[in-house]
Amino acid sequence: MILGTSFTYAQEKDPIVESIIKEANENSQLEHLAHELMDVVGPRLVGTPQMKHAHDWAVAKYTKWGILARNEKWGEWRGWERGITHVDMVSPRVQTLDGMQLAWNPSTTSAGVTAEVMALPGNIQDSTSFAKWLPNVKGKFVLVSMNQPTGRPDYNWEEYATEESFKKMKDDRDAQSKAWRANINKTGYNGRSIIAAIESAGAAGIVQSRWSRGFGVNKIFSARTKKIPTVDLELEDYGMLYRLAEYGDKPIIKVVAESKELGVVPTFNTIAEIRGSEKPDEYVILSAHFDSWDGATGATDNGTGTIVMMEAMRILKKLYPNPKRTILVGHWGSEEQGLNGSRGFVEDHPKIVDNVQALFNQDNGTGRVVRLSGGGFLHSYEYLTRWLEAVPEDIKKHIETEFPGIPGGGGSDYASFLAAGAPAFSLSSLSWDYWNYTWHTNRDTYDKIVFDDVRSNTILTAILAYKASEDPNRTSREQIILPTNPRTGKQRTWPTKRSPNRKGGID
Ligand SMILES: [Zn+2]
Repeated sequence: MILGTSFTYAQEKDPIVESIIKEANENSQLEHLAHELMDVVGPRLVGTPQMKHAHDWAVAKYTKWGILARNEKWGEWRGWERGITHVDMVSPRVQTLDGMQLAWNPSTTSAGVTAEVMALPGNIQDSTSFAKWLPNVKGKFVLVSMNQPTGRPDYNWEEYATEESFKKMKDDRDAQSKAWRANINKTGYNGRSIIAAIESAGAAGIVQSRWSRGFGVNKIFSARTKKIPTVDLELEDYGMLYRLAEYGDKPIIKVVAESKELGVVPTFNTIAEIRGSEKPDEYVILSAHFDSWDGATGATDNGTGTIVMMEAMRILKKLYPNPKRTILVGHWGSEEQGLNGSRGFVEDHPKIVDNVQALFNQDNGTGRVVRLSGGGFLHSYEYLTRWLEAVPEDIKKHIETEFPGIPGGGGSDYASFLAAGAPAFSLSSLSWDYWNYTWHTNRDTYDKIVFDDVRSNTILTAILAYKASEDPNRTSREQIILPTNPRTGKQRTWPTKRSPNRKGGID
């Protein structure tokens, strides 16, 4: 029996904390928000109309909840919109392939480009012989990625293969990768510059497959070609074309990629705030980037961080409408190209940054928070631990704290604030195979969201924001003396503030 414990706990119950937990559990809007953001708005690549749609959607949502919200312009970007993409094999037989055009790639006509697919030669001697061979790419689609020997991730091999065959597969793959890199090096180009050379030589298009080491999952970034289509194909579709080309079956594919160039467009952060009643010029900031890569719908990078912050704001406005300090949420644009939105905000709002009581950022997937570091602030233990005391045990027990910790360099937007000296903290999540399966992949979708964990993060965030706002004291910003870096033997230095790229993708 734990009656004694419950009784003690009951005596200390904070009615606001209790009501936050109840609202989050019994009237959750997370599923609805996730549906609207991921299913209706979709991917949120900087400079796309969908990104602007997301900003307008968030402002409308906050307005409906009675929270002041605005879109703040911080820069401009190359405007681009993804259109219909079809990649079909039309010879030696017809098969629709699982692939997509890469971001900012120019479009084809609606008739598409139909051409034979070829692989790079496997035994390049040197740059001179490669230059002689290069005209062969004219009018062809060129396969530029290594053909993976297996589409099964290592964990699957580990579970089912004999020890010997698992080891053999890995050794063979390592040798193949090494040979692949050496072969590319002999061309006189690297993996990136060879694309431009192939394009200049008159290729019809580039076909790549950037496997993310999970079943059916690829990383999707931007294209390196200026005029011809670049598509990424799922591992086995790519492997099939590769084998057909190598065996001399002369596969032909048709690529239709109807993207649009939209000139130069403004870029924004969405900012919303619940004004403080006693100390309106001091700020508790909730932070999550709003943009995503567009291989999928950005559900865990960073749809989940986004809905955590939105739901926490909704709950706080409903149950704690007159906070002592101002509670501000930042939904940053263009984090993926270098923390641009948050760096813009830090540069444009020095007074707010100087008066940050605490900032909480979440940006590594759908998992429940399992780590909280003091980020190199000497006295962070004192206030963070005190605020955490109000968090229910079933949430708190998963969180490993690290004090005073060391400041994070640039993984996500809290780093923009931390570099300016503001006490900014990362709520770090359990992985749920984030790095392989969802981060910047074509499979970062709604079905990967673990709503119980996201709900737990919402409760944690709302309670931390409430406690930080109510704290009788301003938080200390005193920094630790940083330790030496064991690799270089030099003393670490505090990360320095950096300016955003305010004009992206425009040559
Ligand atoms: Zn992210």
